[in-house]
Amino acid sequence: MQAEIIAVGSELLTSQRLDTNSLYLTDQLNALGVEVVTKCVVGDDRDRLADSIRRAFRSAQIVIITGGLGPTEDDVTRDAVAQALSRKQRFHEEIAGQLEERFQKMGRKMAEVNKRQAFIIEGAEILPNDRGTAPGQWIDEAGASLLLLPGPPHEMKAMFTLQCLPRLESRVPKLAIRTLVMRVAGMPESDLDQLIAPVYKKYENPVTTILAAAGDIQVHLRARCGTEAEALALLAEVAAPIGQLLGDRIYSRNGEPMEAVVGELLRQHRAPVSVAESCTGGLLAERLTSVPGSSDYFEAGFVTYTRRLKAELLGVTTNPLVSKETAEAMAVGARQRTGSTYALSTTGVAGPGQGGETAPVGTVYVAIADESGSRVSHRQFLGDRDRIRQFTTQMALDMLRRRILGL
Ligand code: AMP
Ligand code: MG
Repeated sequence: MQAEIIAVGSELLTSQRLDTNSLYLTDQLNALGVEVVTKCVVGDDRDRLADSIRRAFRSAQIVIITGGLGPTEDDVTRDAVAQALSRKQRFHEEIAGQLEERFQKMGRKMAEVNKRQAFIIEGAEILPNDRGTAPGQWIDEAGASLLLLPGPPHEMKAMFTLQCLPRLESRVPKLAIRTLVMRVAGMPESDLDQLIAPVYKKYENPVTTILAAAGDIQVHLRARCGTEAEALALLAEVAAPIGQLLGDRIYSRNGEPMEAVVGELLRQHRAPVSVAESCTGGLLAERLTSVPGSSDYFEAGFVTYTRRLKAELLGVTTNPLVSKETAEAMAVGARQRTGSTYALSTTGVAGPGQGGETAPVGTVYVAIADESGSRVSHRQFLGDRDRIRQFTTQMALDMLRRRILGL
């Protein structure tokens, strides 16, 4: 079964408000085995919304609309649905009475406009709202279901889980949707795709999606099967040859981020780490310590920008500041001063200006020090400041991962 979600509200078309309702609903529907094939955001405009509803009905068996059920002039969902389905609306005295009671309990008099919320589309089932004023509505038409849910997330979630899910469960053919996420470091997206496309292109199910961020590529496999066991077996079948092709460039087979994977390795090996950062300005320490329990293995971070403090805090006397020698001296210095098993360091030019360095923007040196000495890697990254810094931390964490695993 396929679903479409329509988020209603002109505020959702600005940069000030984000449609989060559809994310929640997508998770819930996927868990049921329903695929969300389209979602859209429509402003508070009756005609446009009616058009979207008609279109959604042609392509999905479940259409969920959130928002626009309030009492004010800009709440047009009821009218738009009535228009799209050519149905009338009926005033429900009982709902109006309940609304009035709700206001009385709060010691307020209900404004006349609130009565608008007592209009129900002909043939709709009422979904009571115990957290707000706007009741939801459930409409069945021509083999499809249309759900009208309130916009405020806590009202929408309660109404959906308590009232809609049980109904959907009894109607939706059982289908298990499961996702497997592999994460890969140190590889350009196009190289990765070229390598694994011959495998995943053979399969329509699971669906493969490749998401690339700075130094981090995620391969998502989504399987849809009759049972969970079948879905997991299918994922394993496709993941095996992909895993073989990518080898140890895969750092996670369950979607965990690099800092969690590295953290777990450090914990297992009882090997604490410290960092000395220049161009990443603390981002490497931030990533390592963002993992709960990281105090088990993270010892210290030095953020040393100036030459004087690189010398005073880390004993660095090398030149220039962005160089292989400085990176190694920073890592060795951090390890000596903390006594950590491992120390990582970063130095580079994050840009956009060169800041007095002779090296071009994007030049990065990352070093690792351990009992056997130090080693350094050099890269030339492309991108803005954020991206170069992100790339650099990913490269440092991956160097540590490889070092611990002996790769
Ligand atoms: P409405 O039901 O359209 O009056 O919406 C009431 C409030 O719910 C809005 O002001 C938003 O704060 C919130 N809201 C509505 N739609 C969404 C959505 N799709 N995602 C997150 N919040 C929403
Ligand atoms: Mg609204």
